[in-house]
Amino acid sequence: MNLFEQMGWLGHEQLVLCSDPSAGYRGIIAIHSTALGPAVGGTRWWVYPSEEAALVDAIRLSRGMSYKNALARLPLGGGKSVILGSTGPVDRRAVLRAHGRFIERLGGLYITGEDVGTTPDDMEVMAETTRFAAGRSGGSGDPSPHTGRGVFRAMQAAAAFRWGSDDLRGKSVAIQGCGNVGYHLARQLAAVGARLLVSDIDPAKVNRIVAEFGATEVAADQIHTIAADVFAPCALGGILHDASIGGLRAAIICGGANNQLLEPRHGQVLADKGILYVPDYVANAGGVTYGGSVEVLKVTPAQAAARVDQIFETTLMVLERARAERVPPSEAADRLAEERIRSGKLD
Ligand code: NAD
Repeated sequence: MNLFEQMGWLGHEQLVLCSDPSAGYRGIIAIHSTALGPAVGGTRWWVYPSEEAALVDAIRLSRGMSYKNALARLPLGGGKSVILGSTGPVDRRAVLRAHGRFIERLGGLYITGEDVGTTPDDMEVMAETTRFAAGRSGGSGDPSPHTGRGVFRAMQAAAAFRWGSDDLRGKSVAIQGCGNVGYHLARQLAAVGARLLVSDIDPAKVNRIVAEFGATEVAADQIHTIAADVFAPCALGGILHDASIGGLRAAIICGGANNQLLEPRHGQVLADKGILYVPDYVANAGGVTYGGSVEVLKVTPAQAAARVDQIFETTLMVLERARAERVPPSEAADRLAEERIRSGKLD
């Protein structure tokens, strides 16, 4: 990999490689941009197949955070850190404390939080060695109710854009993945009288939504091809590709999963098929918007919740720009984010 070329191409500011053999720790902190504020993004703890895979993940995820924060109008930049896990025995506290020490050295340029493989309790441990660990047990709490709310607001905006009304009563929504985000999205949709079709590979997760919200279960391999008004991917990334798009029957795609498009060009493939796609990082910004607002900007919970609800306006702005510039919404969102990052201004 030509590292500097890759950093320049994606617009990264700084990559920090961290090592403390005495703690069994290897980590990477990627700061994509601080143009709008300190770089915010969680710590992912993962067993990577190679060092290069860890580096690519940190680079890709930190850029995604810059775009997500910029679109959410948060005066925050984008960063991400990864801890390279191993399959052998590990002293979790020692690793987390070491990671915290390296974050502290950056003096606030990077603020972390939980991500895949880390928990609020882990943030408590990191907070022993750094002031820059958010998402602690006593902080803004579980982000997923806010992420679910944000996806719901984005879906209302897409409905207004597509059908002339944001009312989702009677609309059928196929939710792929009934985990944290899927559950909270289902709750919001059930409250306004939407018809729910749900799938998960874990039967217990499906049963909960069926029992609580009267949803209909659909086989996991059929959820994206079912006849529904909206398809809401809330499980894995990369699920929108040539083969899956061919089978889609929904008019709108709006869900919480990260990195839904397998490749950027799939935004155009969806548009060509007449499917309205709400870019994932626009729809799923509720969690970071709430947490960032409460913990970094120090606004009240009510003000933070109001910011989450503004995902409605942001979604409409992106969809209208896409129409005006004749580009897919994924491209319109990227353009808006890049403009804000380049200018250092949020409006
Ligand atoms: P989760 O682990 O609680 O839920 C994911 C669910 O998807 C699990 O129940 C899992 O069994 C299910 N699943 C996996 N493969 C599946 C398949 N093939 N078909 C159907 N279901 C399948 O995770 P989550 O916190 O709900 O996050 C879901 C997605 O949203 C992830 O992509 C995550 O990165 C993204 N996201 C989450 C948040 C948040 O606040 N939790 C914020 C932004 C983005």
